[in-house]
Amino acid sequence: MRKGEPILSVAVPTAGGRVLDYLPPLQGSVPRAGMRVAVPVARREALGVVLGPGRCGAPPGVRLRRIRRVLDPSPLLTRELLDLIAWAAAYYRCPLGAAVGAALPAPLRRLGRAARVATVWRLTPAGRAVTVADLARRAPRQAEVMARLQATGSLAAEAVAARGWRAVLAALARKGWVEEAQAQAEGHAAPVPGEAPALLPEQRRAVGEVAAALGRFAPFLLEGVTGSGKTAVYLALAEAAVAAGGQALMLVPEIALAPQLVARLRARFGEASVAVLHSGLAPGVRAAAWEAARSGAAAVVVGTRSAVFAPLARPALVVVDEEHDPAYFEDAGPLRYAARDVAVMRARRAGVPVVLGSATPSLESLHNAREGRYRHLRLTRRARGEAPVRVELVDIRGRPLDGGLSPPLIARIRRHLEAGGQVLLFRNRRGFAPVLICDACGWVAECPRCTSRLVWHRGAGRVRCHHCGHERPVPERCPSCGDVALRARGHGTERVEETLAARFPGEAIVRLDRDATRRRGALERALDAARRGAARILVGTQMIAKGHDFPGVTLVGVLDADQGLFSADFRGPERMAQLLVQVAGRAGRAGRPGEVVVQTRQPEHPLLRALLAGGYGAFAEAALAERRAAGLPPYGALALVRAEAPRAEQAEAFLDAARRLLEPPPSGVEVLGPAPAPMERRAGLHRWQLLLQAPSRRALGRALDRLAPALDGLPEARRVRWALDVDPAELY
Ligand code: ADP
Ligand code: ZN
Ligand code: ZN
Repeated sequence: MRKGEPILSVAVPTAGGRVLDYLPPLQGSVPRAGMRVAVPVARREALGVVLGPGRCGAPPGVRLRRIRRVLDPSPLLTRELLDLIAWAAAYYRCPLGAAVGAALPAPLRRLGRAARVATVWRLTPAGRAVTVADLARRAPRQAEVMARLQATGSLAAEAVAARGWRAVLAALARKGWVEEAQAQAEGHAAPVPGEAPALLPEQRRAVGEVAAALGRFAPFLLEGVTGSGKTAVYLALAEAAVAAGGQALMLVPEIALAPQLVARLRARFGEASVAVLHSGLAPGVRAAAWEAARSGAAAVVVGTRSAVFAPLARPALVVVDEEHDPAYFEDAGPLRYAARDVAVMRARRAGVPVVLGSATPSLESLHNAREGRYRHLRLTRRARGEAPVRVELVDIRGRPLDGGLSPPLIARIRRHLEAGGQVLLFRNRRGFAPVLICDACGWVAECPRCTSRLVWHRGAGRVRCHHCGHERPVPERCPSCGDVALRARGHGTERVEETLAARFPGEAIVRLDRDATRRRGALERALDAARRGAARILVGTQMIAKGHDFPGVTLVGVLDADQGLFSADFRGPERMAQLLVQVAGRAGRAGRPGEVVVQTRQPEHPLLRALLAGGYGAFAEAALAERRAAGLPPYGALALVRAEAPRAEQAEAFLDAARRLLEPPPSGVEVLGPAPAPMERRAGLHRWQLLLQAPSRRALGRALDRLAPALDGLPEARRVRWALDVDPAELY
């Protein structure tokens, strides 16, 4: 160590997520906080991020090692972001070094200089008009690349290099069919032409209130019925934030649902000023978008949950669209967080307003609004003036169902089709039938590796486990008694589609679920057919309930509302109500009156009644009362320790040891378990859990202070895979 040399504290994601002390590199200047560095760890070289001055934590006599190289010319992570990550690490009980790693996009987690400018190849208008089939005879390689581009819109330069396509693309460029462009300009949706409509009074009021809060922390809940024009509010707010010299961060649950938003943002702010961040991007493109956010070149940053950790040069506004969406929970990896909650914390620390928008807000956010912590803004009218939809329950107890459809629903479908309407049917189960059963002996096809039943996929001729991916051919006879009378029980989307095809021959049907849209471009084609009205009947899982605008739909049918009401998870009813309202919102959007038919075997269920009689608000009221009585969030705080192991005793022993760490528990905290998880086995591993229930986050924090640091050191921990979820999304 040289005289006067600083010691630096460096987060090392791979070294168990630890924070270690190092000396600066021999050459060059001392790296600043937020820069990435290469450091020696044992015999390897690892990526680190400088956090600041070291704490001299090394025991005396230990020789500090030196940073080998500095990877970034300027800090990649801003001070604001480093502080946010430190908060998240502490709150979600994740080692700081691991949290820093989790906040970095994958391409920046590698050793090596960040690709600061990435390029993509994309089609020119002339290239879009090329008929690939004609080209195939003369130039098969060119045809292959053109087909690829026409399907995907663009190709990252890295992918091109990896496939040896450079020469082909150069030839295509000479023909004027492709061009190389800056990566963050990539985007599939066409810009939306024309002026934005004048805001309606409710929209104007919402924009005014939030805009008045620019420059300080202020949380808002924007509750706007489907079609009320929340997007226009976000756009106007982004404009205000940018006009004030700042950047807007907008989170969306899935990027596939945001093409409209992205297109409108780009139309307004210009291509280069909108950075899009999600995990599906090619590494170079993602790094470039991240850089555009960090440098301030991007006025608006749109991204999925991990974008909550995007660096911003001048944060001015945070928006979380569809804030109730479960996609905001990150429940894998070292940092298990709720992006919506981190977004609110980020806004608070950065001193900027945050808008949580939804037609069906989470019970947590509604509670915060009722308690006065969030300002409650409402959009009660649909922007295009449609009448609200009419919802009707159909009691299907004891009724003969055909492919999951009751006679009244079938009659209704016929009427709407004859009147020229489009029909949307929602069934949250894919496959042909969720159960394959032997009529002779009662044998049921089950997954050998999970506590679950195999779903029959008739089109594929296979039975599949939806939890671990196990699959095999459909047995021809019962493996237990040899009988050939195997029968499907229950209805998945595949079966519903088949029934409809038989009932309504000649009507074009589109199925929207993960099976039907797996192939590249299939989802876009299906959505397009649905939107244009080319498909008269749409059948789908929750994929169909989200954000899409199907202007011709006049009837929505919900085939089974009961699934969520009796879910093992405490958020089950909330999710079901949200799905119901969202799917109902697809009806009658373009000025045609809409009808919704909900099939249920529980027509008297109080939550369902509340939802139907009083709408989502009444449902939320009733559901919050139940949560309060049970001490569940938002009235209490939960943490869940999960353990998986080849043998049940191993998982149980670990959680027993964890439980003993909490003996006696801090006052008010209840420790429940260890108990088998509702889904006891998955992918061959036994799953157990220990639930901590506390009256407040503070009380929970006291228990976690004792528990979290000690878990990894338990001898029993070596035999299990474990995870700690603070504020878990679900309990199984
Ligand atoms: P939400 O996200 O709240 O469901 P959208 O933002 O998709 O609603 O808006 C629904 C429809 O209303 C869109 O077609 C949009 O163009 C239209 N719209 C929104 N605001 C206005 C307005 N002020 N005047 C006219 N049409 C509007
Ligand atoms: Zn049998
Ligand atoms: Zn399985």
